[in-house]
Amino acid sequence: MVKPEEAVIVNALVRQALVAAEEVMGSHGLHAVLRTSGLERFIDNLPPDDLNPGIKASEYAKFNEAIEAFYGRGGRGMLQRIGKASFQYGVREQAALLGLAGAALKLLPEKQRIKFVLNSLVNALKKTNPQVEAWVEEDGDRLAYVEATCAICNSRHSETPICHLYVGTIGEAVLWASGNRHRVTETHCLAKGDPYCRFEIGEIIEET
Ligand SMILES: [Zn+2]
Repeated sequence: MVKPEEAVIVNALVRQALVAAEEVMGSHGLHAVLRTSGLERFIDNLPPDDLNPGIKASEYAKFNEAIEAFYGRGGRGMLQRIGKASFQYGVREQAALLGLAGAALKLLPEKQRIKFVLNSLVNALKKTNPQVEAWVEEDGDRLAYVEATCAICNSRHSETPICHLYVGTIGEAVLWASGNRHRVTETHCLAKGDPYCRFEIGEIIEET
C-alpha cells in the first residue's frame, strides 16, 4: 500500500473537484479557499483533463479542510453539495470513464442498481490511479463503499468522520442509480484512526 504522504490525485479528478467547488461556492469562494490551502496556482487555471498526477492527496485534504473552515458550521453541508456536483460533473463529462454511459438499470432490483454504481465508482477511481484501494462491501442487505486510500482526510486527524464531500458524491451516485435519495453515513474514517473510510448506504430519505 502506498504511504499516505506519497499519495496523489490525478489531474482529471482535481479538475472535477474544482469545477464542482466553483459551481457551489462561486469563483470568489473558490479563490479564497485555494489561497488558504496553498493551491493558488489553480486560480483561473484548471488542470488539464488527463490522468497525470495533479496534486498530493494531502493537498486535496487541506483544500477540504479549508472549505470547512471557510464556512464554519455550514462547511459540512457545503462539502456534501460539492460532492454531489462532482458526481454530476462525472456523469456529464466522464460517463464513459465512470462506466455509466448507456447503463440499462431499469429492470434491476434497487440493491443491484446501487451495487452497480458503487462498483463503477470503485473501478473508475482505480482506472485513474493505480494507488487507489477501494471496494464495495456487501453484508446481507447492507451495502457500503470503502476506501483505504481516501484523499479527503489524508494526513488529517479528527474525533469524528470528516469526508463529507465523499458522502455527497456517494449519495448522488445512489440517487442516480436508484431514483431515490438514501441516507449515507460515514461509519469509519482514516482521520479517526480507522483502517479505511467506510460509507454505509442506509434507508431511503426522499423518494423521487
Ligand atoms: Zn476519508
